[in-house]
Amino acid sequence: MKVALIGVGQAGGKVTERLARFDAEMGFGAVQGALAVNSAEPDLRSLEYVDTQLIGADRVNGHGVGGDNELGTEIMQADIQQVMNALDGRVTSKAEGIFVVAGLGGGTGSGGAPVVVHHLQQIYDIPVYALGVLPGRNEGALYQANAGRSLKTIVREADATLLVDNDAWHEQGESVEGAFETINERIAKRVGLLFASGEAVEGVGESVVDSSEVINTLRAGGIAALGYATEAASEDSAENVNTAMSVSRQALLTGTSLPDATTADSALLVIAGEPDRIPRKGVERARRWLEDETGSMQVRGGDFPLESDRLGALVLLGGAERSDRIQEFMERAREAEKAQEREEEQTDPAEQFADDRLEDLF
Ligand code: GDP
Repeated sequence: MKVALIGVGQAGGKVTERLARFDAEMGFGAVQGALAVNSAEPDLRSLEYVDTQLIGADRVNGHGVGGDNELGTEIMQADIQQVMNALDGRVTSKAEGIFVVAGLGGGTGSGGAPVVVHHLQQIYDIPVYALGVLPGRNEGALYQANAGRSLKTIVREADATLLVDNDAWHEQGESVEGAFETINERIAKRVGLLFASGEAVEGVGESVVDSSEVINTLRAGGIAALGYATEAASEDSAENVNTAMSVSRQALLTGTSLPDATTADSALLVIAGEPDRIPRKGVERARRWLEDETGSMQVRGGDFPLESDRLGALVLLGGAERSDRIQEFMERAREAEKAQEREEEQTDPAEQFADDRLEDLF
C-alpha cells in the first residue's frame, strides 16, 4: 500500500521518521513521501528522513505549545495553508492512502492532527487515516484529558484511526519515557510491514495481500488496532500448521497495539514468511479462528512473502471501538478533564469566593 505520511508534534515526527527509515532500509518503497510538522523547532531539527515544516512561529516563536492542545488546534488552523503547500508533490498519484501520525496526549499533535485530517479530506480523494499514540495509564491527567478530546475529534474526521497504546508495545517495568525508543521501533516495523504487505511482490502467485484488502478492512471506520507476533518455523510447511495458529493467537491476544481489543467489525490476517514454510491449512484454520474470536464475518487473509526462518502474523482489526480498553480510556480521560476543571476553580482565588456552593454567614 503506497502511503504519504504526515507527523504532527514530537511523537508524530519521531514515529514518522522511524516509519520512513524502516521502509527505506527494507527497500519496500511503500512510503511515497513524509513530512513532519511542529511548533517546536528543536524537535524538527533532529529528523533526517522526513521533510519538515515549522508552524505557529508568530505565536510561539518555535518554542512549542507546552501541553496546550487548544493552542495546538489554533496554530494549525492559522497555518494550514502552509502545511498543505509543504505537502504538495508528496502525495503522489500512486499514493493509496494518507496517514496523519501524532501522540494524542500532547499539545501540537493532539490539537493539530485532527485539523490536518479535516483539511486533507477536503483536498484528496484517497482515504485519510490517523495513526494515534494513546498515553499510558501512568501518564498525567493532562495527557489523558488531551488525548480524550483529540481522539473524539480525530475519529470523527478520519476514515479510520489506528491506535497504539503506549502501555502496549514495551517490556513490563520499563518507564514509558525509557520505552519510547522500543515503542517507536515496534510501530515502525509493524505498521511498516502492514504498508509493505499490500505491495505487489514479483514472482509470487496466490494469496498475496492487495492494498485494497487493507483499505477494505479499515472501511469499518472508527478505531483500528494492529497485532503482531512471530515464531521460529520449520522448513517443511506441513510442520507449521500449529505455528500459524499460535502466532495468530499471540498477535491478537498479546501482541496487539490496543490490549483487550478483540471485538471488531472486520479483520485482516497476514501471514509473513518464506512461501515454502507457509502452511495453507494452518492459515485457513487461523483465519476461521479469527472470525470466531472477533465476531466478524469479514476476515480477510493473505500471505506476505519474506525471507526469514520465522513465521509472522499481522492482524489488523477494523471497527474495534467497542473494546473494553477504549471504554476504560475514555472514562479515564473524562475523569481527568473533570479533575482539571475542579483544580482550575480552586486555583482562581476570585472564583473561590464567588463559589455559591458555600453559604455566606450573614
Ligand atoms: P506535542 O509535540 O505537543 O505534540 O507532544 P508529544 O508528541 O510529546 O505528545 C505527548 C504524548 O506523546 C504523551 O502521551 C507522550 O507519552 C507521547 N510521546 C512523546 N514522545 C513519544 C515517542 O517518541 N514515542 C511514543 N510512543 N510516544 C511519545
